[in-house]
Amino acid sequence: MVEINAIEKVKQDGVFAQITSLGHEQLVFCYDEPTGLKAIIGIHNTVLGPALGGTRMWNYASDEEAITDVLRLSRGMTFKNAISGLNLGGGKAVIIGDPAKKNEAFLRRFGRFVDSLGGKYITAEDVNMKTSDIEYMAMETKHVTGLPETRGGGGDPSPVTAYGTYLGMKASAKKVYGNDSLNGKKVIVQGVGQVGKYLVERLIKEGAQVFVTDIFEDKLMQVAKATGATAINPADVYSFDADIYAPCALGATLNDETIPQLKVQIVAGAANNQLKDDQKHGLMLMDRGITYAPDFLINAGGVINVYAEFIGGYNRDVAYAQTEKIYDTCLDILNKAEKENIPAQEAAMQLALKRINDMGKVKLSY
Ligand code: NAD
Repeated sequence: MVEINAIEKVKQDGVFAQITSLGHEQLVFCYDEPTGLKAIIGIHNTVLGPALGGTRMWNYASDEEAITDVLRLSRGMTFKNAISGLNLGGGKAVIIGDPAKKNEAFLRRFGRFVDSLGGKYITAEDVNMKTSDIEYMAMETKHVTGLPETRGGGGDPSPVTAYGTYLGMKASAKKVYGNDSLNGKKVIVQGVGQVGKYLVERLIKEGAQVFVTDIFEDKLMQVAKATGATAINPADVYSFDADIYAPCALGATLNDETIPQLKVQIVAGAANNQLKDDQKHGLMLMDRGITYAPDFLINAGGVINVYAEFIGGYNRDVAYAQTEKIYDTCLDILNKAEKENIPAQEAAMQLALKRINDMGKVKLSY
């Protein structure tokens, strides 16, 4: 799940060196013998507000891998929350182990660890977590968001994430083609999971020619049949002749091997951490003349949705209205990147950092 180089760096330099270089405030190790719970909560920055980010459960191969993941993910949340205009800092939690083993006692114990931080960290759903798991955590702490709609929460954030991603794609089209219509555009959607399938629906509705892929053939065929999209082989994605590539599966798909193969003019998708190396691969895309919609900006609909719940009295229209701002922000970032001749990812990080650093408490850099 995490690159080997990054894990080796934690092993070689030690945890504190990593925390210092990435600018984290706190890393909290949680262990409970009776339930077998092993978790790490990463609090990257709380200048704009409490650190919000989901909890992921994964069978990490080593503690170093889990540490690397939580450090990287919590830092990413700082940028995402800042650029989205939310009064939130960045945090994330990882639970180490087989997701099949979680149960009520285990999740409630984790909820108590979250509670012990007194609201400095607010948790939500992430990979291998369901809204029912969130309900168990909520029995022990109020510092949790993403409850089901039946309990007054915002429910599944994926449709809102897909909406923001779609708007980021349209803003990119406006920049590249002079108008934002996706009608007739050839779009590849990699990963037809929760977010991907909603994105495909929106694209088809607009008249795009959509090509979908997934490593699970059944799921792929089901989405292709239901939407009218064309299924393609996962291995063909990067060299496929299309206009737009939307990564909606895993991170690091933009790297030394894939970027030279791309035939598209735009990359705009929902996956987190699409660039294997923010600076190097941001520059590689720029040099190839490919417009990149920064992932943490255009996939922020989900966190906007859980924030709308967190501030109380969840209102779906408010969440969607806030998500709509992604279009203008994305266009502004692409224009700034062009004017300053820098990669769009860098332009987006600068904007997020400016908001934090203008508060004047601590100075962050990237
Ligand atoms: P998901 O697990 O429901 O869907 C991911 C899909 O990608 C799965 O169907 C999986 O089979 C497929 N996949 C995995 N590897 C693949 C590969 N090599 N080629 C093709 N398909 C592959 O996840 P999701 O909730 O839809 O999230 C998708 C991405 O968006 C993730 O990176 C996630 O971190 C990010 N994201 C999601 C949300 C949200 O609201 N769900 C919010 C922000 C960011």
